[in-house]
Amino acid sequence: MTRACEASGRSPEDVTLLAVSKNHPAETVTEAVQLGVELFGENRIQEAKAKIPASPSSARWHFIGHLQSNKAREAVAWFEMIEGLDSLALAQELQKQADKASKRIRVLAEVNVAGESSKFGWNPERLLTELAPLNALGRIELCGLMTVAPYSTDPERVRPVFRRLRELRDRCADILGAPLPVLSMGMSGDLEIAIEEGATLVRVGTALFGPRPRPVREDV
Ligand SMILES: *Cc1c(COP(=O)(O)O)cnc(C)c1O
Repeated sequence: MTRACEASGRSPEDVTLLAVSKNHPAETVTEAVQLGVELFGENRIQEAKAKIPASPSSARWHFIGHLQSNKAREAVAWFEMIEGLDSLALAQELQKQADKASKRIRVLAEVNVAGESSKFGWNPERLLTELAPLNALGRIELCGLMTVAPYSTDPERVRPVFRRLRELRDRCADILGAPLPVLSMGMSGDLEIAIEEGATLVRVGTALFGPRPRPVREDV
């Protein structure tokens, strides 16, 4: 990461590493914390609510998956940020649950930049039209945008996706008249390019922890 920052003339302090601990046990989180990692990502509530209490209390957690509305209450309870906010309906449910808990919840709007049918996330045009109602939800703090780029064996092919996310972020910030500082993009296979294109948060699993053990998926 430091190398990628140097190569693109960015300061390593401007890019946060989020360690994707999904499918890995709490022991792995503990070891990573000892090595200085502070921020972790999980994509399943069921798995997270067992792992988080078993992990060092200094670890901070982002939810990085698709969140079902019926899990919104738990997501608000366990996570400091929801990165996979992908609809206004989900935002309204988070608003309701955060209100009950007398909290504010930080979110990133997930954008399906490449329009892949297999992926969740806002269509870019639709996000622009739904920004105002989203921003009107007082318990929701929109901090920026997130995307999962299409898989490609040639990371250069995903560069335009990252660039479009950054441009969309700039347009959203203009519309809202507020900075949207967080751009969560880049994973193990394409983090260098994401950093060159302005990522402020990279979500890295395999490159840190090696291949993931088989998923525990009783809550699908
Ligand atoms: C699993 C996952 C990652 C990490 O992927 P790696 O290729 O293992 O780095 C990043 N982001 C999201 C949303 C994920 O689900």
